[in-house]
Amino acid sequence: QVKSSNRNSYCFYLQEYTLIARKRLELSTLLHRALPEGQFHVLYQPQMDAAGRLVGAEALLRWTVHGQPVSPEDFIPLAESTGLIVPIGEWIFRSVCRQLRQWRQGGVEIGAVSINISAVQLRRPELARQLLDIAREEGTSPDTIMLEVTESEMLDDEVIPTVVALREAGFGLSIDDFGTGQSSLVKLKKLPAGELKIDKAFVRDIAHDEGDRQICAMILALSHALGLTVVAEGVETPEQFRLLRGMGCHRFQGWLFSPAVEADALVMAIPGLMAGLPGNDAGNTPIT
Ligand code: C2E
Ligand code: MG
Ligand code: MG
Ligand code: MG
Repeated sequence: QVKSSNRNSYCFYLQEYTLIARKRLELSTLLHRALPEGQFHVLYQPQMDAAGRLVGAEALLRWTVHGQPVSPEDFIPLAESTGLIVPIGEWIFRSVCRQLRQWRQGGVEIGAVSINISAVQLRRPELARQLLDIAREEGTSPDTIMLEVTESEMLDDEVIPTVVALREAGFGLSIDDFGTGQSSLVKLKKLPAGELKIDKAFVRDIAHDEGDRQICAMILALSHALGLTVVAEGVETPEQFRLLRGMGCHRFQGWLFSPAVEADALVMAIPGLMAGLPGNDAGNTPIT
């Protein structure tokens, strides 16, 4: 009996394995159809200020194939290597512009929405022009949009002219996943970014790891000196929130507050979102 159950699980494992291997091969074919077949949608993860008020949101792409969600960690690299990130990036940008207009027309004040931009998009010199055209078509002002570019990508000399053009077009710029690249601080100073996001890798163990605490404090001191707004990502516990707030971090994003949710849920989740968090009495202020 034991033997047969082992064999069953072995067979199951093989099936599972074959499925994963095949899926990986098929993923690229599937990805080509995702946009025309309407399989993408956008979720929004709230960003809070130190008093627990909603001050912005990050747009995060979701892909569902035959009812199965595929992680961005898996399909974004594929979209980049196939070049599909260009039309996909345009689609998400337009979707966010439309959502911003809908919120505005409904009298909802969200602050700026952040959109992730890939290096592949940045290497196209016409990017700033295109995004500006889309924003105009959709009636959205560029200053309500923050473009997130990872640290290593933004510091690539090749893309700096495009980064500058985006800033001149009026978009906000945010340095994503800060601390994971190897930026020279001199270069950092030259970037036209107004915001920096501390990578969640440094936030995760901040309550237990003295080194991570020092790194966060250092990033915050540097950012304050350069006049950058700092967002901590991956804030999961009240303790992480309290520590980062104590260090002067301006904004907070993470599961402590909310995961990425549907646009309507973002608005509904606002009142009471921060209820019960330590040292916070502004928590129940609803936005109007
Ligand atoms: P990112 O831009 O650094 O986004 C933050 C990621 O952290 C998101 O993962 C988010 O769901 C996750 N997260 C949020 N709060 C927490 C938390 O408290 N704990 C933990 N452990 N994780 C948290 P997601 O949505 O899976 O996206 C992964 C990455 O895929 C993003 O990292 C971004 O680099 C990329 N991505 C997502 N959407 C887009 C897009 O529209 N365009 C491009 N180019 N890249 C995107
Ligand atoms: Mg991001
Ligand atoms: Mg990030
Ligand atoms: Mg990240």
